[in-house]
Amino acid sequence: MIVAKIIILLVIATLPHAMGLFWYLAGRNKWKICERTIYDLPIDPKQIRRELRSSITTPIHAVILGIFLYLGFFRNESWLSGLVTALLTTVWAEIWHYGSHRAFHLGALHWIHVEHHRSLLNSPFTAISFSFSEKLIFSLGIVAPLAVLDCFVRLNFFGIGGWYIGYFVLNSFSHANFELRTYNRWLAGVLTTTTYHSLHHSRYTGNYGLGTRILDRIFTTEWDDYDPLYDRIANERRPLTRLREKASAQGSA
Ligand SMILES: [Zn+2]
Ligand SMILES: [Zn+2]
Repeated sequence: MIVAKIIILLVIATLPHAMGLFWYLAGRNKWKICERTIYDLPIDPKQIRRELRSSITTPIHAVILGIFLYLGFFRNESWLSGLVTALLTTVWAEIWHYGSHRAFHLGALHWIHVEHHRSLLNSPFTAISFSFSEKLIFSLGIVAPLAVLDCFVRLNFFGIGGWYIGYFVLNSFSHANFELRTYNRWLAGVLTTTTYHSLHHSRYTGNYGLGTRILDRIFTTEWDDYDPLYDRIANERRPLTRLREKASAQGSA
């Protein structure tokens, strides 16, 4: 089992860059999946180089999870514990990401998050462009509380590792500058999309959620022209042509 755990850690360490490269090649070779452009604007090659430079610390997630594993945490190996741990990690990560993300947008803490926001127009490598402190806080904030819980109810390493793999795949796509064909209406009302997070970058505030719109709705931080913009990009295939372009006169943040 230890070999499988090491393989998962290696995947977590390298997947973010592999995903970035995948979407970069998809965009450059104009794959069909990239047809629904979000912002029809050029990405400066200097931005790509900066993002790659600041992505050097991305393996920190695997290092943190590996340290907790080495210290004896997350040793439950039943299938059920794997499922429960994955579910717990998903819910906690959503809450932790929203809370810490809102905090990073406050003046005193914004230095932690400013590197990621230097990209107003997202590229396939924006998803790995963070300061070391932001990635450290993000992963410690997810794994450390789970380790505390593990002292009472044994949790499963593969549940957490599986969440990280899913997170890197989805987070990479949510920074690619194109949208998928519209999916189920109900799901679209609950889950975030690439357009959703693109608006957070181009407008700098609002749409703070990670995988769902739930907390943005509860705390009224969602841009209110998101739905028509998503429809326009995904269904009408009409990309935005300015970073601050809005679907209606008013947005909110
Ligand atoms: Zn932000
Ligand atoms: Zn982002």
